[in-house]
Parts: sequence; structure tokens; C-alpha cells
Amino acid sequence: MTKPGKLIIFSAPSGAGKTTIVRHLLEKFPEMEFSISATTRQPRGEEMNGKDYYFISKEEFLHLIAKKQFVEFEEVYSGTFYGTLRTEIERIWQNGKAVIFDIDVEGGLHLKRKYEAQALAIFVQPPSLEVLIERLKGRGTDSEEKLNERFIKAEKELNYAPQFDMILKNYDLETACLEAEVLVSNFLKE
Ligand code: 5GP
Repeated sequence: MTKPGKLIIFSAPSGAGKTTIVRHLLEKFPEMEFSISATTRQPRGEEMNGKDYYFISKEEFLHLIAKKQFVEFEEVYSGTFYGTLRTEIERIWQNGKAVIFDIDVEGGLHLKRKYEAQALAIFVQPPSLEVLIERLKGRGTDSEEKLNERFIKAEKELNYAPQFDMILKNYDLETACLEAEVLVSNFLKE
């Protein structure tokens, strides 16, 4: 039985593989539930509203900020906001589950500072910046301008790794998923 009020944070530069790892963990651990963030960006590919994100307008986002509905939020890319809704965490805790986050590096550290020992903050480390850039290009879902913005941000974010509780190397996805399982399982048992 998992103690109530736990949070597991996966942060990394975009393209490091955290979304894949988080999806894998969600299949393995029914005692966890994904924190669906709100964002003002457009859905990509197969993404669905209310599953991957709550896709909302900038007006709605600003309104939610004014109503203090976010535990944390950020303008992750210029003009594009992402945020964790207070109601989302409460809803998941009320279901008796631990909350798992796929969130950018600053947002992850913000949550860790706020929830301290209740939270396990994991930084997913790609093999190198070059590999990360290749992965991002390979997704083929972003414009050249958006991609450049992601590269610049990723380079900065790699420096934050030591501030996390754990660094999970994602040099090989299968190994990273297995290692993530061990980290999460130990934390849920605490
Ligand atoms: P993407 O557009 O690739 O889905 O996400 C861009 C970045 O925003 C990723 O690093 C993702 O983890 C992060 N992100 C997603 N939701 C949130 C959130 O609620 N807050 C913050 N600070 N970042 C988020």
C-alpha cells in the first residue's frame, strides 16, 4: 500500500525520452496516475485533449493564473505556457494514487522544492547534446524555429541535473525503463 501524498517527477530536456519512460511506468504501476498539464500549444500528432494535455487558449490560461489554480506554471517556450493544476494533484491523491509528472526542468525543481520529501525528482539524461538534437530533428513535428528554441533550452537544462534526487541515464531505452522501475518501486514502498 502506497502512502498518500506522493509525487514522482520526471524532468529532462525535450527529446531525452522522459515521455516514453513515464508511459512505460504508467503501464507497470497501477498505483500511479499521470498529472495532465494544461498548455496553450496546439496538439501534435495523435495527442488528445484530457489525456496528454488540457489544450486551452492563452486567455483561459491567464485566467487560471489569476485564479491561482496552478501549483507551478511556466512559459516554457516563447508565447507557449505549460502548467500543473492544483485540482489535478488533488484529484489523483483522492484516488489514493501517487502522481507522476512529465515536466520541464525548472518546473520539476519547483515541485521538488515545494513538496520536498513527498517528491522523488528524477532527471533523465540523454547520452549527449548531439544525440538529443538528432532525436528532436527525427520527430519531424516541429518547425525549424521551434526546433532551434528547443535546442537552446536543452543545452541550458542539462546543467541542472545535479539538483535532482536522481539522474537516470537514458543511453538505451530498455535499460533506462528497467532502472526507472526500480527507482519508482523503491520510492512507492517507502
Ligand atoms: P512538449 O511541447 O514537448 O509536450 O513539452 C515541452 C516541455 O514542457 C517538456 O519538457 C514538458 O515536459 C514540459 N511540460 C509539460 N507539462 C508541463 C507543466 O505542467 N509545467 C512545466 N513547467 N513544464 C511542462
